[in-house]
Amino acid sequence: MNSIAPINRILKSGFVDGPGNRGVVFVQGCNFDCPYCHNPETISLCDDCGVCVSVCPAGALSVCDGRVAWKQEICSLCDACIKRCSKNSSPRARRMRPSQVLDVLADTLVYIRGITVSGGECTLYPEFLRALGAEVRARGRTFLLDSNGSYDFAADSALLEVVDGVMLDIKASAREHPAVSGRAAPHVLDRAAFLAERGKLPEVRTVVSPGLFDAAVAVEEVCRRLAKAASPPRYKLIRYRPIGVRRAAAARLREPDEAHMRALAEICDAFGIQSVIA
Ligand code: SF4
Ligand code: SF4
Repeated sequence: MNSIAPINRILKSGFVDGPGNRGVVFVQGCNFDCPYCHNPETISLCDDCGVCVSVCPAGALSVCDGRVAWKQEICSLCDACIKRCSKNSSPRARRMRPSQVLDVLADTLVYIRGITVSGGECTLYPEFLRALGAEVRARGRTFLLDSNGSYDFAADSALLEVVDGVMLDIKASAREHPAVSGRAAPHVLDRAAFLAERGKLPEVRTVVSPGLFDAAVAVEEVCRRLAKAASPPRYKLIRYRPIGVRRAAAARLREPDEAHMRALAEICDAFGIQSVIA
């Protein structure tokens, strides 16, 4: 049993990761490699190479026994270290137990609606999620996950029991998924359909960038599969924007225009799926 996970950062409250005011926990590590990732510093685990240490203007980083150490109390959060890291990592990630995460959120738990675990890909740490979810629910708060759909929720009833909902990213059609994420993921729609049948799929999301993949094919594939589910999700169609993206791979990405996004929303309309353009 390993209920410890590497945590990139914890946001005490926010309104963009699920309904209501929520605490957000960003895990470190992802099994996909999308060029438009807005949290690229969460993709890889730090290998303690030490390259970022010398760029820290606050002296908050050092190498101790071959490991990079971070002094949170003097860090100015300037992000010079993560801009220097060429491996999509961060020296500020910490291995934490669910109880330590809840300690950080203790003063806001009284008024937030719940906690969302994002990343990175949170389902890389299912034991941590099961333990954290049980604690969050025991405190009368909701527990949501942001996931890339690679995890087999059907095989983890214990996790499903403590999760109120999963907001699932669908990167592209099954055929084009490897070109977008760097990994074949033929079961993402199966995962989504499984959750939708159980009322645990409040939202699916697709980031749209013309030329990266055929978004119309992807959106139609998703709508066709999920429209008849017991609880069809809302479809969030997200315009690619180059904000916060630091990866060289993002240089080839384009922003979609309004007509492109409207056409995708009309596909959702045709299947009776509620959509929102973000
Ligand atoms: S964050 Fe990146 S540059 Fe810094 S020690 Fe880790 S892998 Fe090396
Ligand atoms: S964000 Fe990184 S570089 Fe900036 S002060 Fe903190 S540890 Fe140092």
